[in-house]
Amino acid sequence: TVFNIGSINIDHLYEVEHFVRPGETLSSTSYQQVLGGKGANQSVALAKAQAEVKHVGAVCRADQHILQQLQEYGVNTDNIAQVEQVSGHAIIQLTPSAENSIILHAGANHQLSQVQIQNVLESLSEGDWVLLQNETNLVAETLEWAQQAGAKVAFNPAPMDAELTHQVLPFIDLLIVNEVEAMDLADTDSIEKATQILPKQYPELAVMMTLGKDGVRYFSQQEDIQVAAFTVAAKDTTAAGDTFIGFCLAELERGSDYATAMRTACAASAIAVTRMGAAPSIPSLVEVQEFLAQ
Ligand code: ADP
Repeated sequence: TVFNIGSINIDHLYEVEHFVRPGETLSSTSYQQVLGGKGANQSVALAKAQAEVKHVGAVCRADQHILQQLQEYGVNTDNIAQVEQVSGHAIIQLTPSAENSIILHAGANHQLSQVQIQNVLESLSEGDWVLLQNETNLVAETLEWAQQAGAKVAFNPAPMDAELTHQVLPFIDLLIVNEVEAMDLADTDSIEKATQILPKQYPELAVMMTLGKDGVRYFSQQEDIQVAAFTVAAKDTTAAGDTFIGFCLAELERGSDYATAMRTACAASAIAVTRMGAAPSIPSLVEVQEFLAQ
């Protein structure tokens, strides 16, 4: 089982002629409401990769439809608290040139409680993973509790907070970052240097560093494995990283080795970037297997 302790958002997407200007009232040309948040996206990817995934988070009591949507994707929602606060949400303006501008409100995502998290951690079995991103409250505490509870701990520190991440690295088995986050964390502007600095600072740490169209690199003090991306016509890279993380952890939880997990995850995210949107763009395991067999 993968326990994913993370954000759940409602994304409100508005197509506009241009970003709204100070003092202006602007009508949108279209409106769409979709499930979002890195946490929810990664849970959907895990479920689509056929992992058993239990999401741990919080939404507003009034937003039952979010829980239903997650369940339809195959995500277990028994550990999602229902609170009085507004659900996490994003107000997203999209312009004709495909630029976006986003207001994010954490809302219920910052209402996780220590009791809720510790109850979940008490139900862990051997071999379970705990996954976190950086869009909920109690992140540092939870990572430490998860390690103490004997889980395998994966952390995707997005959005990056270098100070917090350094503080929690001793509790983490697998750090999953993109190249910008890796360089930020290693305080360097060279990817190569980041791959040397981080294992030196943290001898126990393993890092999975995604490199966009250049694929992914897994490195630690013992290992350095690079897997190329698949060449596809990319349309929308939203949730590429979330798809990668879901498929990679699902494979690792099944007992696959790192090279296999990385290849499957690269295939899944390659398919995702050829499709528009976040959760709806994530392929099923069967689609990924067919893609790999081509
Ligand atoms: P993030 O969205 O977190 O910045 P990346 O951009 O590194 O993450 O993408 C995650 C993974 O998605 C990459 O490791 C790669 O496998 C895949 N990917 C991303 N962009 C492309 C692309 N243009 N073509 C093929 N695969 C891609």
